[in-house]
Amino acid sequence: MKSIKSLSNVIQNEINKNINFKFNYIKSNWDKIIGDNLSLKTSPNFIKNGIIYITVANSAWLQELNFLRFKLIKNINEFISEEFIENAKFKVGIIKNETNMYEGKQNIDISKEIESISLNREDIRRIKENIKFIEDNDLKFKLYNIISKNIKREKYLLNTTYKKCKNCGILYNGNGNICYLCKSDYREKFHKNIYYAILNNPKKTFYEFKQLYPDIDSELYDKLKIKVIDHIDNKIDGLLLEKMYNKVYIYAYKYVILTKNIYDNDKIEVEIENLIDKRLEKIKKDKINEERYKKSFM
Ligand SMILES: [Zn+2]
Repeated sequence: MKSIKSLSNVIQNEINKNINFKFNYIKSNWDKIIGDNLSLKTSPNFIKNGIIYITVANSAWLQELNFLRFKLIKNINEFISEEFIENAKFKVGIIKNETNMYEGKQNIDISKEIESISLNREDIRRIKENIKFIEDNDLKFKLYNIISKNIKREKYLLNTTYKKCKNCGILYNGNGNICYLCKSDYREKFHKNIYYAILNNPKKTFYEFKQLYPDIDSELYDKLKIKVIDHIDNKIDGLLLEKMYNKVYIYAYKYVILTKNIYDNDKIEVEIENLIDKRLEKIKKDKINEERYKKSFM
């Protein structure tokens, strides 16, 4: 059972990477796809299940876009040389215009260029790690090829004007530190929901979250979990300084589960005590040091 779950997880990860990559590509070439004029009135937000969700400046343009729907879908698919988008949905909203400062060669079909890229030992180790649980050799080989192609694409593009999104790790061609998808509200809200879900349900496993949020992949989950742990970490120190021990306990409980993956309540208790003792010790030491420091001026 575990291997089926992990398998669909590996595949889903690679599919998500592809969809997000293509979304960013479409977004950064939006003016070329829809035309200069319309690109100022519209903004693609995200893609889900073959549907592209687009914000439109006002209801008049919304009507206009509804007429143009199939032409737009055709344009997008032609632009990326693939029947990728099946439908488009529009809603009225605020358009955040992003001009792309990279105007160089932006071809999505780089299969020829990719061929010249070779993988190093670390890359191969990474791929093998991902597929080691798969028993079927044929499937293993296919997955190996898919993942290695994605890594090669990544390596190739990083040598051009592409950057890695600080938030999700997807490559994109544009301004700033995060990709277009992460900038969009949908993504932000999605991340926020999962962040709080982890914070409030530390005992839930990745697979349980996956049932609730099918769009989540393990990379994103790990990143958000680290953010949650960071937050709790700071919170514990702050609460200890304020001597709010009841609250400290609640956060220490979450912290122990998330960092040590312990689920047994008795064991958790022991860990919580250890954690609080260690932190109090540290606070004491810090205070002593501070006093010493102050005295050195006297
Ligand atoms: Zn991103």
